[in-house]
Amino acid sequence: MDTIITMPGHLITIEQAGIERCTAIIEWARRFRNRDAVPSQPPGTVALAFFEPSTRTRMSFEVAAAMLGARTVGFTTSGSSIEKGESFEDTIATIEALGAEAIVLRHSASDAAERAAAIATRAIIINAGDGMHQHPTQALLDAMTLLDTFGTLEKRRIAFIGDVLHSRVFRSGYTLFRMLGAEIGVCAPPLLRSGHLPLDMVELSDARAALKWADAVVVLRLQRERMQSGLVPSLADYRQRWAVRIADVEENSCYVLHPGPVNAGVELDAAVVDHARSLIRRQVTNGVFVRVAVLVEALGIPVVQPSSVVT
Ligand code: ASP
Repeated sequence: MDTIITMPGHLITIEQAGIERCTAIIEWARRFRNRDAVPSQPPGTVALAFFEPSTRTRMSFEVAAAMLGARTVGFTTSGSSIEKGESFEDTIATIEALGAEAIVLRHSASDAAERAAAIATRAIIINAGDGMHQHPTQALLDAMTLLDTFGTLEKRRIAFIGDVLHSRVFRSGYTLFRMLGAEIGVCAPPLLRSGHLPLDMVELSDARAALKWADAVVVLRLQRERMQSGLVPSLADYRQRWAVRIADVEENSCYVLHPGPVNAGVELDAAVVDHARSLIRRQVTNGVFVRVAVLVEALGIPVVQPSSVVT
C-alpha cells in the first residue's frame, strides 16, 4: 500500500521542525538508502535557489531530485536578474510563479528562509543554509551519521571545534543533538564564541582537550566571508590551539565530522579527512538520502515498499 509521508510544510529551523519530524526524516532517509522504500510517482518541479556558493548541499539536492525523477531549475545570483536589481522577494515570487513546488534556498541573510516562507503561497521552502542562522539538512545528515555510528546519541558527547560564532552548522546541530539526548562540548577562540551560547555546554580548552572528552567532534571552518578582520590573529596562531591534529586523532578514540568545505592545514590536518575514524565522506553520502527524504516529504510523494512495485 502507498504511504504518503505527511507534508508538514516549510523546513526552516530544527526547533520549528521538532524532534518527531527530524527523527521521521532520518528514518525515511535510512529506508531510501537501504532501498526499503521507493517513491511511486514522479514529483513536480524543485527550484534550487542558491544566492550563496555551495558544492555539497547544492549537488546533493540535485542528485536527490534526480533520484526522485523531479525536474530541477537552477538559480545562482550571478547571471540572474538580481544583478539587474530584482529584489529577493520578487525573485522568490517569480520562482513560485514558474511552478516550483519546492524552493531549496541558500542565502547569506540570516532571515532569508523566514522571509521566503512569508512570501510563498504554495511552494514549500527548504532552508539550505541562511547566513549565521540555521542549516537544518546539515544537522539531519550529521545526526544520521552519528546515529549510524553510535546507535543512539543518548549521553554521547559531541564537541564543536572552531568558529561557532558564525556557524549555522553549530546552531542547528547543537539543537538537534541535544533533542536526541547528547551532551555538547564547545571549544573556540574567545572572539569566535557567540555571546549567547547555550549554558548547558561543556567548555573545552583546546582541540586536544575536545578530542579527549568527546565521542565525536564536529570541526568547523573559519567562516572568513562572515568575519570582521582581526578576530583571529593569524592562521598559525589559530592552528596552534584549535586545529585537529592527526596525532591527537590517533591517540584518542573520537570520531571526526566536518560539514565541508574543508580547509586542510587550517582547522584540521589533511590526513584527518581520510582517517578510519573520519565520518566526513559518510556525511556527504547520507546528505543525499536526507535530502531525498526532505523532498519526498515536502512534495508529498507517495512511497511504496519495493516488493509492491509492479513492473
Ligand atoms: N557548508 C557549511 C555551510 O554552508 C559549512 C561551511 O560553509 O563552512 O554552512
